[in-house]
Amino acid sequence: MDIHEHQAKEILASFGVPVPRGGLAFSPEQAAFRNRELGGARCVVKAQVHSGGRGEAGGVRLCEGEADTRAFAADLLGKSIVTKQTDAAGKRVDRLWVEEASDIARELYLGFVLDRKSERIMIVASGHGGMEIEDLAEEDPESLIRMVIDPAVGLAAYQARELAFKLGLEGPQIGQMITVLKACYRAYRDLDAMMVEINPLVVCGDGSLVALDAKMSFDTNALFRRPQVAALRDPGQEDPRESFAADHGLAYVGLDGDIGCIINGAGLAMASMDMIQLAGGAPANFLDIGGGASPERVCQAFRTVLSDRNVSVILVNIFAGINRCDWIAKGVLQAYREVGIEIPVVVRLSGTHVEAGRKLIAESGLPIISANTLAEAAEAAVAARPQTTVAA
Ligand code: GDP
Ligand code: MN
Repeated sequence: MDIHEHQAKEILASFGVPVPRGGLAFSPEQAAFRNRELGGARCVVKAQVHSGGRGEAGGVRLCEGEADTRAFAADLLGKSIVTKQTDAAGKRVDRLWVEEASDIARELYLGFVLDRKSERIMIVASGHGGMEIEDLAEEDPESLIRMVIDPAVGLAAYQARELAFKLGLEGPQIGQMITVLKACYRAYRDLDAMMVEINPLVVCGDGSLVALDAKMSFDTNALFRRPQVAALRDPGQEDPRESFAADHGLAYVGLDGDIGCIINGAGLAMASMDMIQLAGGAPANFLDIGGGASPERVCQAFRTVLSDRNVSVILVNIFAGINRCDWIAKGVLQAYREVGIEIPVVVRLSGTHVEAGRKLIAESGLPIISANTLAEAAEAAVAARPQTTVAA
């Protein structure tokens, strides 16, 4: 799960990372107020969206005073910004972060990531901050410093000092860098983060270090024990279909085809998508309803799949172990009642309580196409598509 820059700054500041003073704004008036609060002179106005590359995309600007701040805020709020990291639709700007302008002497890159190879947290740093890490790795790989942290010891003081020296820091900056590194490491560990990135970490004209930008993302599997972090979620920044699905215990990924899939288990979902391709069709999505799915969850799966306008037929493929075919069937019938389905539906049920499930479908009087095997189901789904789609 990603969070906004201002949230990451607040977290990192609470662990001891120096950040510029600033405030949040949801309207041009609030942005102007934040500017006055900061003294009414120069400030930096930053679009809060879950993406990097905002600077290049016009989402970050140095503003001169209150009127300029209000005008830029009015220009930005409500728009979507498209960065190198977003899709063509971009991300909507609903909030701005207005902070005091910093006097930048040098920009550094600092990141904490999970290195799967060594199974440890790794620091990545560079003396050439400001650029995205992908560009740095391509254009100036020599400048990248990597350091693996031993979990039994934690971030050792000598490692932090060595990193500060390699970045060319000197005097009191060395001590400040050690503070920043330790704070980021503790925030990462204590909050189950997957990534902490400060880009740029700047050396100011007076020699002090400040985090000018901050990005954190978290392990969704650990959110149950980090309610303070879970509360920072902003659904407005997520794909609405994917967040709706996640809210109902479904794993959903939207794709380009027209055959909507409702399947249990990631493996069976992948296999079903392959069988659809083999039969000459294209899946509209990956969807795993998980184990022990209630009729309600199955019904929500229909809602999710049908929210994609390209879907022209639905394939339900269940190999029930922990699941129960009768619950799945009840969910299908509930979807017909509550969601209203006007396109063909192919259902293949197998496993636990299969007889009861098939009976419910057969006696429903609904135009459901039944299939016995996966291959049969995939072929039936492809054949059931409207003629216009087949011709196209
Ligand atoms: P990103 O493009 O999404 O990574 O957003 P950043 O927060 O990193 O901002 C992009 C760039 O704006 C930075 O690399 C800085 O060069 C510039 N910038 C941000 N804040 C300030 C500031 O306080 N003063 C000055 N002069 N430039 C800033
Ligand atoms: Mn940045």
